[in-house]
Amino acid sequence: MQDSLASSKVSSFELPDHLHEQLEEGKRLRHQGYRGRFAPSPTGPLHLGNLRTALMSWLQARLANGTWLLRVDDLDRPRNRAGALESLQHDLRWLGLDWDGPVFLQSQRRGLYSSVLSTLRRQGKLYACRCSRRMLADVSAPVGRGLIYPGTCRDLELFWGWHEGRLPSWRLRVSEQFSEISGDVILRRADGFTAYHLATVVDELTLGISEVVRGEDLLVAMPAQLAVIDAMSQRPPVYRHVPLLCDAQGRKLAKREGQAGLDDLRSQGLGPSQVVGWLAASQELIAVGSELTAVELLSELKKKKGALEAVLKP
Ligand code: GLU
Repeated sequence: MQDSLASSKVSSFELPDHLHEQLEEGKRLRHQGYRGRFAPSPTGPLHLGNLRTALMSWLQARLANGTWLLRVDDLDRPRNRAGALESLQHDLRWLGLDWDGPVFLQSQRRGLYSSVLSTLRRQGKLYACRCSRRMLADVSAPVGRGLIYPGTCRDLELFWGWHEGRLPSWRLRVSEQFSEISGDVILRRADGFTAYHLATVVDELTLGISEVVRGEDLLVAMPAQLAVIDAMSQRPPVYRHVPLLCDAQGRKLAKREGQAGLDDLRSQGLGPSQVVGWLAASQELIAVGSELTAVELLSELKKKKGALEAVLKP
């Protein structure tokens, strides 16, 4: 059995035609110019920290005369909140952050993720893992994840069906260079959901994202995402991370706690120019107390070369 499974493995990343085409299309788009994206999860109203990240990402794309996409990371259904998808679009529009093309919903792209998953599995690059989350305190959500998987299930027998009532998760056997910085990455969770790292990587590649600008909390996700891109033999985008906005106690804002959203500010009578001014000043892009629209801020930054670059860390 092991032999026949081994011989069914393919040695290179042989892609089904439709996947090959989508990755080629992504490369073509990327070569055409700057393509950035904002990728919120619809788990609650965007807070000022999310909005500041969105503003930085939008400015960076618009300064480059590039394209800015809106992708919604809604795969983790139990965490989605009713109305969040609508409210995030409303908030971005209210601030003047216009995106190009349709809103990309990950929940509508599941076929694509499964296709990559089965291709990697056929190549023998995945293995079934039965370690429970509790056992490893290991979650697929990137936030707060600091553990490197010790490889417990790496060399176990290939049997992967139901076992004590649970399905396995599927891990990528990462190449040597990533074993110490990312560990073997979960690509499909034991509850059947596509893991964040797989979905986000497939989206960056097929949507032709040239640069990712996101919150600093996701810096920890970068090695895992580079490992997945490496396994797919593709070229990664550039990753830039912006500082997180903290509350008065120095704690980062959390969307799920419904902190500091625009509804509060609107009900206090603040308008978009005041909020854009405050967000930009909090990043030292303009003077404290400035009031200006997103488009006016963009023209200011066109005159101040390098100001935004200084905010975006590698
Ligand atoms: N959806 C993720 C979040 O809101 C961000 C994903 C990303 O920018 O890579 O935390």
